[in-house]
Amino acid sequence: MRVFNFAAGPATLPLAVLEQAKNEMTDWQGSGMSVMEVSHRSKAFVAVAQAAENDLRELMAIPANYKVLFLQGGATGQFTAIPLNIATSDSIAAYVNTGQWSKKAIVEAKRHCKVEVVADEAASNYSTVPAASALRVPAGAAYFHYTPNETIGGVEFSYVPDTGSVPLVADFSSSILSRPIDVSKFGIIYAGAQKNIGPSGLCVVIVRDDLLGRARAGTPPIWDYDAMAKDGSMLNTPPTFGIYMAGLVFQWLKREGGLAAIGERNRRKAEMLYKAIDESGYYKNPVARDGRSWMNVPFTIPNPDLEKTFVAEAAQAGLANLEGHRSVGGMRASIYNAMPVAGVEALIAFMQDFQRRHG
Ligand SMILES: *Cc1c(COP(=O)(O)O)cnc(C)c1O
Repeated sequence: MRVFNFAAGPATLPLAVLEQAKNEMTDWQGSGMSVMEVSHRSKAFVAVAQAAENDLRELMAIPANYKVLFLQGGATGQFTAIPLNIATSDSIAAYVNTGQWSKKAIVEAKRHCKVEVVADEAASNYSTVPAASALRVPAGAAYFHYTPNETIGGVEFSYVPDTGSVPLVADFSSSILSRPIDVSKFGIIYAGAQKNIGPSGLCVVIVRDDLLGRARAGTPPIWDYDAMAKDGSMLNTPPTFGIYMAGLVFQWLKREGGLAAIGERNRRKAEMLYKAIDESGYYKNPVARDGRSWMNVPFTIPNPDLEKTFVAEAAQAGLANLEGHRSVGGMRASIYNAMPVAGVEALIAFMQDFQRRHG
């Protein structure tokens, strides 16, 4: 039986996509092979990768002066690739620290350039987003990095920072494709696939042309955006199955009405869940209201001893993977694009029932 899977990543995928992949698994497009068994350089597979790129461009309205790269090494690989590509060891890079993924990005960047943390939400225990007016952009910075959605803390920017001529770099791993964004405001957008795109093993990087060709000497070619762009992300064997699956997800998103429609559905899902939490007098979400994530919703109950019971009973009821991140405890519901409204409704009904029995 298929369950509602609230995991933070790898995360739930659209059932229609899984069914299609299943149907095509052993005989893809009449080839007598699965897509995993064909050459990445074959006409048929190159067409898959091209279609995936075209559909992503259409969904996000990516301007022509941006390259779309299909890389490996996850978002974590990009923590290193970014300074190698667009900073020197003497450059200053500005970072906003809104939680655990920001921190990891900062740790890696510090190994490769000078980091200036221009806003740090430590004082609120990372339950807030800095005000737009509080962001300083150091003159001459090589780039300005932030994490639009902190997957662990459940904190999301409701605005895009204005960094003037300093390239804006964003780790969109857990919120890419969740609502429309204006790509032209960014220098680099990157996202590991396993939250809102497809299976793990693929990392999507969207990079503005003027940031290509600047990698420092010694940058490995697979981390060099320019080298990868020139080879159509096929300088080495790409994660072919991941690209195929991402392509199916992009087609599904188009059938669902694109990012405006998905964004509206995500807003509704999040509003329903936060309302149920806020009005319960039992569940609590620690995040400031203007920083609440549409994708990852952490919540607690008054008696932490009951958390294990909550998670176990929820799993019994077909609501899987609701335990909070190991570093913060509590519960967390990740409600990415592929989580249907019915999944959120079922979660709310379970939460109300649990409260009646234990509250
Ligand atoms: C999951 C996640 C990462 C790490 O992704 P990997 O693909 O495991 O490297 C980085 N940043 C954010 C915001 C994430 O959600």
